[in-house]
Amino acid sequence: MTDELGIVWFRRDLRLDDNPAWAQATASCRTVLALFVLDPRLVGPSGPARRDRLFGDLRALQQRLRDQGGDLLVRTGDPVEVVAAAAREFSAGSVHVNLDVSPFAVRRDAAVHHALDSSGVRWSGQWGTLVHPPGAVRTAAGGLSQVFTPFHKVWARTPWTPWPEAGDATVLAINDEAIPTGGPYPFVSDQHGAAVEPGELGAAHRLTAAAERADRYDDERNTPSIQGTSELSADLKFGTISPRSAAQVIGESTPGRAALVRQLAWRDWYAHLLHATPALVDAPMKPQYSQLVWRDDDAGFLAWTQGRTGVPFVDAGMRQLLATGWMHNRVRMVTASFLVKNLLVDWRRGERYFRHVLVDADVSQNVGNWQWVAGTGPDASPYNRIFNPVLQGQRFDPRGSYIRNWVPELAGLDDRSIHEPWLAGPLELAAAGVTVDLDYPSPIIDLRESRLRALAAYEAVRAGR
Ligand SMILES: Cc1cc2nc3c(=O)[nH]c(=O)nc-3n(C[C@H](O)[C@H](O)[C@H](O)COP(=O)(O)OP(=O)(O)OC[C@H]3O[C@@H](n4cnc5c(N)ncnc54)[C@H](O)[C@@H]3O)c2cc1C
Repeated sequence: MTDELGIVWFRRDLRLDDNPAWAQATASCRTVLALFVLDPRLVGPSGPARRDRLFGDLRALQQRLRDQGGDLLVRTGDPVEVVAAAAREFSAGSVHVNLDVSPFAVRRDAAVHHALDSSGVRWSGQWGTLVHPPGAVRTAAGGLSQVFTPFHKVWARTPWTPWPEAGDATVLAINDEAIPTGGPYPFVSDQHGAAVEPGELGAAHRLTAAAERADRYDDERNTPSIQGTSELSADLKFGTISPRSAAQVIGESTPGRAALVRQLAWRDWYAHLLHATPALVDAPMKPQYSQLVWRDDDAGFLAWTQGRTGVPFVDAGMRQLLATGWMHNRVRMVTASFLVKNLLVDWRRGERYFRHVLVDADVSQNVGNWQWVAGTGPDASPYNRIFNPVLQGQRFDPRGSYIRNWVPELAGLDDRSIHEPWLAGPLELAAAGVTVDLDYPSPIIDLRESRLRALAAYEAVRAGR
């Protein structure tokens, strides 16, 4: 314990429990100041769902700190100036953070670290956002595996780096900027229309509920019409739970639980890959694919974002995303594949759109998954695996329940036609109250022809043409 005042600069770790930066500061300093910087470069491009979730989680963190006699100091601006100014204003001796892997975060932290160094303030970084820190999961040859399964094997048997125990520092009760309230959007509810309980407490309740469902995870995870997955991604994004708590509470005692914990290894893997190769945000991991000739299909891209492609399973997913900020993983794969393979639109355009709208947008996960779908990333889906969105819908939404929920104008069609309204006869359409191109568009693309076009484009690159 020193006499110094330490600042905990919260970013994607909006919790006090199981938070190594918070623990380190409260154990090593006599007084702690809790700081959050609203950086317009991050808050500005956030879609409404993510912004509202952030503000809710910040208010919950502030309440927890107030319950302990402290507060959360919120300031707006460039962290290089705001953190350094706060360190001067409060005569801090150290700044404590949980590190992040995105190139933006790495550059930002290097600049803040540098500014603090020049005024003699110590920088202390922890890896409280991942189960294992980058570099901790290595192949026998000492590198980061470019294939997930061997990574997962080592990940599962690597002992956790111990995190510090929290201490009993006094938390300063200082607060000058109010946390903004959410925008005029209906995002106080989640994808099921239920109110979201923000913050650490809400996350703990969601984790308990997810753990109760986890035995069924393997059987239900691909059915988008039901709550078959944990729905913890926004909590993991904002750090209202630690991935270690999630792994611990879920456990691996049944195949369903083990399959869910395995997803956290995917999360670590994509983070480690981006940390090792920051260029992945823009460049294909397999360099030959930088030669792919993409189409500038603005009308197609717009129809895709609006859920008006005329392919019901795709439209259901894109509308779920637009309405709630979240989309089921199976449908994320199908909608992304439709954009990249059927429309042959550059995966980076889709990635940027998802990054804007998703409540759980996380650059490493988003880029990793988009590159997986595009076939350009490590251990990616083979280039010639092109999801047929109709077959995917028939397989994973056989009764059309998910489509009926998100594309209600098709609700009156039977379980077969709801996946392919263009095959329904005029009488059936009339009985269901659907006028094609008025209520619901015809498909904007021929699925078979566009599949062949994508194969040709990928094969041209592979053949070096
Ligand atoms: C095109 C595309 C873009 C995606 N963008 C993001 C993103 O920006 N942020 C994000 O968190 N996830 C992203 N994912 C991964 C996945 O779709 C979501 O993590 C998942 O749907 C969140 O729901 P859940 O919490 O119920 O997941 P669960 O199935 O319950 O999984 C538990 C946790 O494991 C992690 N996880 C699950 N699937 C994956 C995966 N494929 N890759 C990496 N981690 C995974 C997540 O942290 C998730 O919360 C993307 C997937 C695709 C196909």
